[in-house]
Amino acid sequence: MTARKPGLIALFDVDGTLTAPRQVVTPDTLKFMQELRKVVTIGVVGGSDLVKISEQLGKSVINEYDYVFAENGLVAYKEGKLLGTQSLKSYLGDEKLNEFINFTLHYIADLDIPIKRGTFIEFRSGMLNVSPIGRNCSQEERVDFEKYDKVHNIRPKMVAVLREKFSHLNLTFSIGGQISFDVFPQGWDKTYCLRYLEDFHEIHFFGDKTYKGGNDFEIYESEITVGHTVTSPDDTVQQCTALFLTKQV
Ligand SMILES: [Mg+2]
Repeated sequence: MTARKPGLIALFDVDGTLTAPRQVVTPDTLKFMQELRKVVTIGVVGGSDLVKISEQLGKSVINEYDYVFAENGLVAYKEGKLLGTQSLKSYLGDEKLNEFINFTLHYIADLDIPIKRGTFIEFRSGMLNVSPIGRNCSQEERVDFEKYDKVHNIRPKMVAVLREKFSHLNLTFSIGGQISFDVFPQGWDKTYCLRYLEDFHEIHFFGDKTYKGGNDFEIYESEITVGHTVTSPDDTVQQCTALFLTKQV
């Protein structure tokens, strides 16, 4: 790659930024990114795993972007090669994990709620997903639980207890969706990937959920990045054109 601006990288969220939500990237966006790559270093950072990101951005995604950060950077690629991996299991270790899981299951066992189903804790590589009703409830039960939770604050109360009990583990608790909340180490949001970009003095980040509580908020707000809010892949292309391509002519 010649004539690329040194020290500058354009970093993109995936869902809602390079693709329509949960959709595959369009040929036009794909072509644009390849043009952009001639001018600046480009990278993607998504919350999903590499399998899901590859489904959306293409099988050769790790070769089409200079950096690919799956699971917020817990799985990191540079120029098609694996840079590093991190997981909840290796970070916390089984002793601390058991302590947390055992306490949480006891708490759920003692919880007086109208119905319980199955899969109360889902173990993922970078987080635990905890559901008081259980993840394999039906769609109708899911909707009912959300209503019940709004009145009785089952999740907020549970999070408050866990936060206090496990304050020494420095965990972040994030209530999202209808029936569950996520638990992960502090800093394991999208800012995690920034540790791999220390050579860059100008990091432009583009994301659609940059508001507080959105999954782009922390990296958008970070002092290390220049944050850009986008509304769609077309908006991403337009903003990038204005920022990086028009001056080149
Ligand atoms: Mg997004």
